[in-house]
Amino acid sequence: MEKISVAVRFRPSAAGDPPADRHWRVQDESISLVAPGSGVSFAFDHVFDPSYNNAMVYDLLIKSIIQAAVDGFNGTAFAYGQTSSGKTFTMSGSEEEPGIIPLAVDDVFRTTKMTTDREFLIRVSYMEIYNEEINDLLTLGNQKLPIHESLERGFFVAGLREEIVNSAEQVFELLKHGEANRHFGETNMNARSSRSHTIFRMVIESSKRNPMNLGDVSNTDAIRVSVLNLVDLAGSERIAKTGAGGVRLKEGKHINKSLMILGNVINKLSESGRQRGHIPYRDSKLTRILQPALGGNSKTSIICTVAPEEVHIEETRGTLQFASRAK
Ligand code: ADP
Ligand code: MG
Repeated sequence: MEKISVAVRFRPSAAGDPPADRHWRVQDESISLVAPGSGVSFAFDHVFDPSYNNAMVYDLLIKSIIQAAVDGFNGTAFAYGQTSSGKTFTMSGSEEEPGIIPLAVDDVFRTTKMTTDREFLIRVSYMEIYNEEINDLLTLGNQKLPIHESLERGFFVAGLREEIVNSAEQVFELLKHGEANRHFGETNMNARSSRSHTIFRMVIESSKRNPMNLGDVSNTDAIRVSVLNLVDLAGSERIAKTGAGGVRLKEGKHINKSLMILGNVINKLSESGRQRGHIPYRDSKLTRILQPALGGNSKTSIICTVAPEEVHIEETRGTLQFASRAK
């Protein structure tokens, strides 16, 4: 447990552009720049070229996290990368090609229905962090929610709506509402969504369906609670030193800082227990919100999405650097 797996996914190149292998050489699970003298090669747990679709990525990386979550272990999956590299395509997918979130939701309901010896209670919430402020996407106007801390729960978002759900369809409805709430009052939605972190969370609680054991609190397996976070991170592109002003600059600073802190936390978690020391969850809202499901008995997967085009080489290099630090 507590293994962090790091994958890199190339999206297809834009129409008319050469494919990724023009600039990047992929050998097994390593990636290096084709240009001579560029040195560094980065190694990962998986490298997906555009021949891998969402279902394949799900089966190879996420399915085991979902199974473990149903069995009572926490799990987190992130999509990290610059804007337009395929984070939302990977997490949410399209009408024709559902992404990790809908595939996971389907899987959770399929698996819990098959687990006949346990009774399940499933709750979902959906939030965004924009400019270091937490907005509830399931309740219109539920904005700027505070993070509280308690002994039993650790960090939690106070006032966040948690909806009890009984079917995948019900969750898809909620997600649709969430997207609509997010569009509210926004002129440029795409810009907004690429500047916020979106966290979809399922809390899976189960108890043994054995009448003989009712009320037997000595049975530690009687109740299991697990938290599953599926996260579409804000675009990791660096803001230009010149040119960006006002709102853009403020957004960029928040994003860069919170992604850097996420990197620090993941980097610490991937070190082995003894040398690890203090994990700086407190340093950002994102890591505070994710803390209860990171570390401890949990499984984490980071999918770093990259764009193959030449204009994106520098950002791709930055993403590969982040990815290799997480290992
Ligand atoms: P991001 O969320 O990182 O900004 P998107 O997921 O919106 O990026 O992807 C940008 C564009 O590329 C979208 O039009 C999306 O449909 C397309 N795209 C991204 N990844 C893939 C993929 N693996 N296969 C097909 N199309 C993709
Ligand atoms: Mg996106």
